[in-house]
Amino acid sequence: MSMPPSSHNELRRKDLRCLWHPYTRINDFEMLEFPVIVQGSGPTLTDADGKCYLDGISSWWCAVLGHGHPRIVEAIQRQAAVLQHSILGGMSHPRAIELAERLTSLAPRGLTRAYFAGDGSSAVEAALRMAVQSFHNQGHPERKGIIALADAYHGDTLGAVGAGYLESFHAPIRHLLNRAPQAPSPHCFTCEARSRCDLRCFGGLQQLVEEYAATTAAVIVEPLVQGSAGMRIYPPDYLRRLRQLCDRHGILLIADEIAVGIGRTGRMFACDHADVVPDLLCLGKALTAGTLPLSAVLVREELFDTFRDTPRQDRTFYHGHTFCGNPIAAAAAIATLEVFEQEDILHRSIQLQHAIASAFTRFGGLACVDRCNSLGAIGVVRMREGIPAARHAARIAINLGLLIRPLGDILYLCPPLNTPEVALQSMLARFEEALESAKTVPESIGELRAIAE
Ligand code: PLP
Repeated sequence: MSMPPSSHNELRRKDLRCLWHPYTRINDFEMLEFPVIVQGSGPTLTDADGKCYLDGISSWWCAVLGHGHPRIVEAIQRQAAVLQHSILGGMSHPRAIELAERLTSLAPRGLTRAYFAGDGSSAVEAALRMAVQSFHNQGHPERKGIIALADAYHGDTLGAVGAGYLESFHAPIRHLLNRAPQAPSPHCFTCEARSRCDLRCFGGLQQLVEEYAATTAAVIVEPLVQGSAGMRIYPPDYLRRLRQLCDRHGILLIADEIAVGIGRTGRMFACDHADVVPDLLCLGKALTAGTLPLSAVLVREELFDTFRDTPRQDRTFYHGHTFCGNPIAAAAAIATLEVFEQEDILHRSIQLQHAIASAFTRFGGLACVDRCNSLGAIGVVRMREGIPAARHAARIAINLGLLIRPLGDILYLCPPLNTPEVALQSMLARFEEALESAKTVPESIGELRAIAE
């Protein structure tokens, strides 16, 4: 799609007058050119100038099936013509029922109930409250604490930030939060013993859980990949040990699979790699393949049962969101799961996973790369020259037509799982070129701008 260049500039000018962007430093944003995306098709996004970008981050991890998948678009259109919204409080609708059935049959065995929310943060918020209220309902109000990992990210609502507190981001709102104690997180990139892993990193979490067990309702983790912390990939054994530890102390385990659920790690759920069944499992992002906001908490039946009234106690879960389980979003999620099944996405993405693993192993040998790692359809490098180098390389990549975003000193690639081979090779080549070209880091925003232009 091509539009006259002036229209792109005009859109940017209007944007700068009235829009406030999330996670975006205002001064930098105002200085740098930024794409205004007008269309998406498969792994490609197109801006208002007609310039194409390969989507190397699946639009914040959502677009697992690329953009504009015809079956999902059709499901949305079909549902929009029939029923756009109907509440789930005290009522139901067929799309929510069908999606709940599908999710609970796909999920690790034992997760038999689906609770719908609107986005990742609200699913996490619900899961935290379910865990705490469950103990309260059972006569254990003292079990009200949450334990999390350092540098975790569970969303931006206050409960989620309490679990994923980061001094550099959240200091101004610290007084609003109920902060969870945080254990040192597994960090294979910096671990001295990574070649002969004995899970020494688990010790910190074990100590914290043992110290707070009597007052803790749940431990929350991002299974196998601590995403926003810098794509920290850790071994399935860590999760197994955590499941055993939680069982020993009667603590609930919340798996926040908002980023990694629905195929990203090569399995439908990251917990599947460890054969671990959490008590609560949060899904979002890829649940609708990034087409519409929808999230879910999958829950064990025993936990659900603790919310049944007793003759003397109202145990209801007084928590919900207006758009939870919206029929159009639910139809998009059903279509997403159908595409996974009918197009055998997990199996077909094996080749893509191998290509990512071998390319990122090779990138590890580049002078500018300190460490590399991969899991499923996620490839990660850490830049030797730190944050400026990562930012610089991401800018160059965008200039080369590959959309990626830096995370501190980390750069990563997580393309749609159905990215065609040619597009994937092109992404990997551009990623490598960006790394190679980022050897000298510009000193000023002016220089960065010159590169972007
Ligand atoms: N949990 C994890 C692990 C995430 O990565 C995110 C978002 O990146 C969230 C929760 C919050 O999801 P949302 O941005 O949809 O609220």
